[in-house]
Amino acid sequence: MRKFDVLIIGAGAAGLMCAHIAGKRGRSVLLLDHAKKPAEKIRISGGGRCNFTNHYSSPSAFISNNPHFCKSIFSRYTQRDFIELVRSHKIDFHEKKLGQLFCDNSAQDIIKMLLDECDRANVILQLETYIKTIEASGSGYKVSVKAIDAIEAIECESLVIATGGLSIPKIGASRFGYDIAQQFGLKVTSLKPALVPLTFHSEFLDRCRALSGISVDAEISFGTICFRKGLLFTHRGLSGPSVLQISSYWDENREITINLLPELDLIDFLKRCKSESPKQSIHTALSQHLPKRLAEDILNELGLAGRLADLSHAKLQILSERIHKWLVIPNGTEGYRTAEVTCGGVDVDSISAKTMQSKSQEGLYFIGEVIDVTGHLGGYNFQWAWSSGFVAGQNV
Ligand SMILES: Cc1cc2nc3c(=O)[nH]c(=O)nc-3n(C[C@H](O)[C@H](O)[C@H](O)COP(=O)(O)OP(=O)(O)OC[C@H]3O[C@@H](n4cnc5c(N)ncnc54)[C@H](O)[C@@H]3O)c2cc1C
Repeated sequence: MRKFDVLIIGAGAAGLMCAHIAGKRGRSVLLLDHAKKPAEKIRISGGGRCNFTNHYSSPSAFISNNPHFCKSIFSRYTQRDFIELVRSHKIDFHEKKLGQLFCDNSAQDIIKMLLDECDRANVILQLETYIKTIEASGSGYKVSVKAIDAIEAIECESLVIATGGLSIPKIGASRFGYDIAQQFGLKVTSLKPALVPLTFHSEFLDRCRALSGISVDAEISFGTICFRKGLLFTHRGLSGPSVLQISSYWDENREITINLLPELDLIDFLKRCKSESPKQSIHTALSQHLPKRLAEDILNELGLAGRLADLSHAKLQILSERIHKWLVIPNGTEGYRTAEVTCGGVDVDSISAKTMQSKSQEGLYFIGEVIDVTGHLGGYNFQWAWSSGFVAGQNV
């Protein structure tokens, strides 16, 4: 039977971070994953360039049942600390927009950096290994694993669960972390796909299909939450950064509000057009601010056409309302197949923010996406993986 100080399950962003930090403290570390390659999500992230953090990362960009939980964790390992690590490996990167930092070259640079750090810290990485059972035993854990047809028992003092969320099952996502939490009596909050395109009933879907490819700088809100980062019509519904962001907050069967022209007072603009060029068509006027096909679609829906001079103030007002407050009810999301993250997870109130250790189960740690801390789009989810992985790495 092999024995390690620390056994980490999940060689993704959080697991790799935790592994090298613990290894550098002199702890013997075994890092296991059932996938053929480590860090597959880093590889596919950010369109292959990994949006590895955000200059403006702060706790307000995260959703959790207890929004205070992550504060001290982020303060102990900040975006500046990770940027320093990236710089020390001479990885070139750039800010795309809104503080989002991407590799110039490839997400593989970040994977190589983490693997090199693990190497330096003498971490043993073992892939294609399947966990059969986990039992608490004495002052640690006994884990039965299957690799290359042989079953082996491994003992460890500290067991770290870094198995991520449910999104993209075809590259290794599993329920494992939630099941282990429940096995040891920790609560798991309700789970839903997040940062995911929204889908619609057939009538609205037909319109999305007809408008597919059009993107607008729209503002989307759900209750008091509002994002203005772009909306894209697709063959499957609505996507784009604003839609992905709002999906993390949206509740089933509830409407979202789309403001297609957040910068403009449309009624004011239309009244001006009407008095200055009354012969101008409503379509021409609206197309000055919206893509032509979208303007046409909305005017058709409202049955509006012809010269501005012939349209009453009431009709222009209806159009303006429709553009600024378009209420739509999604019938669902594209689900875990395309979601970037899982919203919800292991209840933060059952974990110590000082160590990432379960409050009730000594020696059992949770880090990364498996926990009920979900970031906005823009490099925040990786920052959570780095920060929570670091804090656990210092304590296991
Ligand atoms: C398409 C896509 C693009 C993304 N782009 C970005 C981005 O640019 N910026 C950003 O901040 N976030 C991005 N994310 C989110 C980010 O990838 C995750 O939040 C982050 O990877 C979570 O890190 P983690 O270590 O907790 O989990 P993961 O990185 O998912 O790692 C979990 C690991 O556990 C392993 N595992 C799972 N179950 C088991 C099991 N039963 N036994 C053994 N091993 C197991 C998996 O194989 C995996 O290697 C993106 C996500 C997706 C899907």
